[in-house]
Amino acid sequence: MLRIGEGWDLHQLTEGRALMLGGIEIPSSKGEVAHSDGDVLLHAVIDSILGACADGDIGSHFPDTDPIYKDCKSIELLKRVVATHPFTLCNIDCTITLQSPHLRPFIESIRVSLSQALGAQDNQVSIKAKTSEHLGPVGEGKAIEARAVILIEV
Ligand code: MG
Repeated sequence: MLRIGEGWDLHQLTEGRALMLGGIEIPSSKGEVAHSDGDVLLHAVIDSILGACADGDIGSHFPDTDPIYKDCKSIELLKRVVATHPFTLCNIDCTITLQSPHLRPFIESIRVSLSQALGAQDNQVSIKAKTSEHLGPVGEGKAIEARAVILIEV
């Protein structure tokens, strides 16, 4: 059976935190505010998988009130979700919205990292990046947003 899932996440940005995207640290003066490493892309990806499986959301599986997840690597959370929710990936399409830095130089590294965590071929994983045209909290550099849509076969 084919199943579709959608994930969305937003994190505040602040000075002195690492900017994590797809398990890769992106050079930036600001990073995500979070209990975990704040990898906004991976959080959207995890929610897309859980959504496709109709099995709750990232907060129900990994509560941000649990000290065990303090500063944890989101790539490990994704690997755990993949291991506990068997599926065949058709494809996943992601969009990151961030005003700066421009992500184009890092897109391929992010795509390879995400592909590896999903056990996917490169052509099954799409990562797109855009700015928010200086509008709203993302455009003002106060936040970063990510979306993911996944199609799986179970
Ligand atoms: Mg999050």
